[in-house]
Amino acid sequence: MKSSTWDAIVVGAGPAGASAAGALARGGLRVAILEKERLPRYKTCGGGLVPRVREALPPGFDLSSVVEHECPVAELRIEGRTWTLNGDAPWVSMAMRSDFDAALVDHARAGGAELIAPATLRGLRSESDRVIAETTAGTHCAPFLVAADGATGPTARLASWPPAPPGIPALEWELTVTPEVHARFAGIARFDFDAIAGGYAWVFPKSNHLSVGILSTRRPAPSLVGRLESTLGDWGLADCPAERHGFLIPVRPRVELTRGRVLLSGDAAGLADPITAEGISAALISGAAAAQAILAGAPSPEAVARHYRRMVHQRLVSDLRWARLLAGILYRPGRARRFLFERLGRTLTHAVGEVIAGRTSYRRLLCQPRSYLKLGRRLLQRSS
Ligand SMILES: Cc1cc2nc3c(=O)[nH]c(=O)nc-3n(C[C@H](O)[C@H](O)[C@H](O)COP(=O)(O)OP(=O)(O)OC[C@H]3O[C@@H](n4cnc5c(N)ncnc54)[C@H](O)[C@@H]3O)c2cc1C
Repeated sequence: MKSSTWDAIVVGAGPAGASAAGALARGGLRVAILEKERLPRYKTCGGGLVPRVREALPPGFDLSSVVEHECPVAELRIEGRTWTLNGDAPWVSMAMRSDFDAALVDHARAGGAELIAPATLRGLRSESDRVIAETTAGTHCAPFLVAADGATGPTARLASWPPAPPGIPALEWELTVTPEVHARFAGIARFDFDAIAGGYAWVFPKSNHLSVGILSTRRPAPSLVGRLESTLGDWGLADCPAERHGFLIPVRPRVELTRGRVLLSGDAAGLADPITAEGISAALISGAAAAQAILAGAPSPEAVARHYRRMVHQRLVSDLRWARLLAGILYRPGRARRFLFERLGRTLTHAVGEVIAGRTSYRRLLCQPRSYLKLGRRLLQRSS
């Protein structure tokens, strides 16, 4: 079968892969994206694009072309109470991932990247100066390979990484609804943290249907189907026809982000947010970082690895550690959580909203003495 040689190969055409390939091509490299599906393809995802996604988009990408619905309001239900976040900019912009991912890939192609699809990665060999990828569409060789093949992609395993920490299970159902029902949910991204132990359920309005879903960080996970059906009942959506999907979200970063000439990005590197399970911004950021590391460090794999580790740790991993700490509080229902949300619900939900919007980080939120002073003040006000 045909064999092709490139300056870099990217496996997977999700946001991580498109972001990496576009940046590599714009940096002047000949780059191929190997994708197992024909695009556009359905991707199990809420398609909720939070403000920090906008910051991470490739230069010149027009998000408005794929956004189906804007939600200027986010509603969070926790411990029996509902908090509303309003803002000048939308809290969540809603897109179908088929459109979003295809547009990102088109943008990368316009910059010079080549898409080869369908091309399923089947085997991987490393030599001293290159990586050889065997696919259903021929053999592709390059000095560097970016794995952007998602939560269950084979690249890490084929490159001899140990198994990834297990991802959290999540359901995504696409509900057909009447215009009257759609109008009831329009403009609001709803999150219900009381719907399930250790997780939450959501309703994301799209242009003329609703994307609903549920996830749990608990092990073993409670029955997601049962909990989602019951929550749909609470929302008055019990009888809507649903197209049902489910998948995993990896919220524990891989210890090793590179091996030889292979770099893991996005879900393949386990970079989704452990609080919100939002993974699109981390996929875009890590994909672009992989490209920058290759452009800065090639031809030395050690230099590429050094650059990549530093960027991903600085921009993502160090903050995810703090997010896990906060997730421990948010996802452990009980007296402590009830106490905190009864007293400080508005402050806490607003604080997480600020992180999601990209206006602060989990680290800054938890490390700044000012944060505790503010919380302390609120507690005193409440108890006096
Ligand atoms: C139910 C659910 C809801 C979610 N909702 C949201 C949300 O609202 N907002 C948000 O930000 N995040 C959400 N996420 C997380 C988000 O979907 C992921 O974090 C994000 O898709 C990661 O992007 P990626 O590019 O790393 O991988 P992916 O988007 O998974 O892309 C991987 C690509 O690799 C391809 N591939 C796989 N194997 C091979 C192979 N062998 N050869 C070639 N190609 C291959 C796949 O076909 C795919 O196109 C959700 C996840 C789930 C499961």
